[in-house]
Amino acid sequence: MARKTLVAANHKMNGTLQSVKEICQNLNNAQLDPNVETVVAPPAIYLLAARETLKKEIAVAAQNVFDKPNGAFTGETSAHQLKDASVDWAILGHSERRTILGETDETVASKTKYATDNGISVIWCCGESLEQREAGKTLEVIAAQLAALKKEVSDWSKIVIAYEPIWAIGTGKVATKEQAQEVHASIRKWLKDNVSQQASDETRILYGGSVSEKNCKELAQEADIDGFLVGGASLKPAFVDIINCKK
Ligand code: PEP
Repeated sequence: MARKTLVAANHKMNGTLQSVKEICQNLNNAQLDPNVETVVAPPAIYLLAARETLKKEIAVAAQNVFDKPNGAFTGETSAHQLKDASVDWAILGHSERRTILGETDETVASKTKYATDNGISVIWCCGESLEQREAGKTLEVIAAQLAALKKEVSDWSKIVIAYEPIWAIGTGKVATKEQAQEVHASIRKWLKDNVSQQASDETRILYGGSVSEKNCKELAQEADIDGFLVGGASLKPAFVDIINCKK
């Protein structure tokens, strides 16, 4: 089965009600490649506005979701509330949440299981630091992150993996196509060896880290790169060119 390209926008903690609506309207008005699944993740406070503004073909993602049902969890959002608001996706395990907010591999895995069990598709992020890469530990680090996920999750059909080297996020320093492809291929092999041939064949693996309209075409040609998770460039009109990079 061919994997459908997916391009997701991670707005992080940026924007205003007006700017989020403008970004959504621009996407509605653009000629987007119909062979690409587009997902937009605005800050939590703008999820409803994004959902109301975007046409139905474009999905909305939360940047986080909790691993418990509704209840006494101040400040959190449940998978059930996302479903209620027609928000069908969540980004989990972004390196900013891992490093700044202290989320562990185990927390991320637990949230991913709860979300996927309750109907939310997850963009699950992994990636190494510069120090880990320079120590030759990249593949080991990613395998450990995947192993923590596997302990919790048995159904991989609602998971999209985003490989995001931490040193490339928001730095303007994009991984080369060879660096990205090497890690993507190793993730696919890990899925084959540790989950199933089907998970290996069907799971989409996105690249994230300083993707722009200038570098996306080259990266998109690699066999195991199935799309992108885009931060900074997703706030600009050129995000459309990233979605259309295979057109
Ligand atoms: C991200 O936040 O997921 C990301 C990849 O950011 P940027 O594209 O700005 O590097």
